[in-house]
Amino acid sequence: MANIRHALNTRRADDFAAWYQEVIGAADMAEESGVRGCMVIKPWGYGIWERMQRLLDDRIKATGHDNVYFPLFIPLGNFEREAEHVDGFAKEMAVVTHHRLISDGEGGLKPDPEAKLEEPLVVRPTSETIFGDAMARWIQSWRDLPLKLNQWANVVRWEMRTRMFLRTSEFLWQEGHTAHEGEAEAREHTMRMLEVYRAFAEDDLALPVFAGEKPEHERFPGADSTWSIEAMMQDGKALQAGTSHYLGTSFAKAAGIKYQDREGGEQLCHTTSWGVSTRMVGGMIMTHGDDDGLRVPPQIAPWQVVILPMLRDNDGDEVVLDYCAKLASMLRQQTAFGDPLRVNLDTRPGKAAQKRWDWVRKGAPLIVEIGGRDVENDKISLLRRDRLWNTENGKPAFRDPSPEEFTESAGAELEAIQTALFEEARERRDDNIRRDLTTFDELRDFYSSKDKYPGWVEMAWSRPTGEALDKVVEQLKSLKLTMRNVPLGDEGASGPCPFTGEPAVERIYIGRAY
Ligand code: AMP
Repeated sequence: MANIRHALNTRRADDFAAWYQEVIGAADMAEESGVRGCMVIKPWGYGIWERMQRLLDDRIKATGHDNVYFPLFIPLGNFEREAEHVDGFAKEMAVVTHHRLISDGEGGLKPDPEAKLEEPLVVRPTSETIFGDAMARWIQSWRDLPLKLNQWANVVRWEMRTRMFLRTSEFLWQEGHTAHEGEAEAREHTMRMLEVYRAFAEDDLALPVFAGEKPEHERFPGADSTWSIEAMMQDGKALQAGTSHYLGTSFAKAAGIKYQDREGGEQLCHTTSWGVSTRMVGGMIMTHGDDDGLRVPPQIAPWQVVILPMLRDNDGDEVVLDYCAKLASMLRQQTAFGDPLRVNLDTRPGKAAQKRWDWVRKGAPLIVEIGGRDVENDKISLLRRDRLWNTENGKPAFRDPSPEEFTESAGAELEAIQTALFEEARERRDDNIRRDLTTFDELRDFYSSKDKYPGWVEMAWSRPTGEALDKVVEQLKSLKLTMRNVPLGDEGASGPCPFTGEPAVERIYIGRAY
């Protein structure tokens, strides 16, 4: 195999964390802001998030939800009403205590003691309690149910260990909040939204996931059960990519969300909540990126085709530009995934080769270069980002279709790239799951082996609760492992649990995690 000169300095195999940082910079997606854990999302990063938003929003609306907007500030008292909830979030809440600043006498400013708020306001870490207040006002009878709401917003959780997109102190997300007549309906809805997330991750982001139930200690604070989609990153670590919670009646009790049932009796609503965040952008990078930068799945690429005219600063340029513009407009009449192609004719100044590598690092799915000679031959130079290299000669694998040939096939090729990225990620994930370990010793030996990126194991266990579960959590922690989820469709298990010795009842995914 020929020697390839990759477009990044860091190889995934050498230092995955450094590689991740380099991709974000090289693809010009985001940068640190100076406020710890808060980032500036740049056009390419935000464009990808906007595509995610659009696709997920369509799915959320298709399942009968309306979008709303609730305030950023939540009175502290709201949290105090639900003990488990406040316990879970207290350690990471940002709180506003004053509404005015005054001079500190040394040329600076300080909060005005006269302007202390009577009740502190929490910058929302999640909005169950404030949605709960509104639901209590809006719901009177069974006729008002189900109530299915969603909001797109920013939230703040004062995270101690942050990493761009994956775990930030301020992040963007959607949070769904619904109220239902009974447990069965609410549970069914929790699962429906889990399935929405699975389909969004797999079909729109080409991100293979396992949907399943989180163990008891990983539940959302205050929830009866928490479900998640879990993805494997290229370093074998797990990323919790979305969560759906059945909240029982605890939030309804705290906020007084009640309704009159069909017999005239008063009942508490059963509620659900579910969220997906900008973490997905990080998951997409760590799943599809390679040693040349990002590879954006065409469904979420802000630009699916980038056309680079190779200009010479002479009279021939106009012909090249016309030719490129004509190609762009032909392409825009084509569709992929049922939408018109998103085509960028990049006429910014600069050398075409330089611009090519910029778009490679950004991960645009199809990159087209057109110079004077191409126009003469009525051909274009086409690069497919997910198959960048000719491994025999170590050079970029250019093809040279005619503009018509390319126009006709571009939509189908984008759809094929989407599928190829998904299949590649799924194969890699499935190759990195061990299913044959049956004892804790085997587990320890496996994760102590030299392999840098060991992947996950799927193991039978007895689903302990309370203190017995705490013990298992500690055991796993000693190997830096966490339980991910019990996948849907799990067929149960037999034999003794490797942790408790009790009979195993189900199989659970275990791995290192972000
Ligand atoms: P939760 O409300 O804790 O269930 O989280 C909802 C979603 O937000 C999940 O998909 C989490 O993976 C994601 N999430 C939680 N904390 C953060 C964070 N600090 N930064 C980015 N995403 C997060």
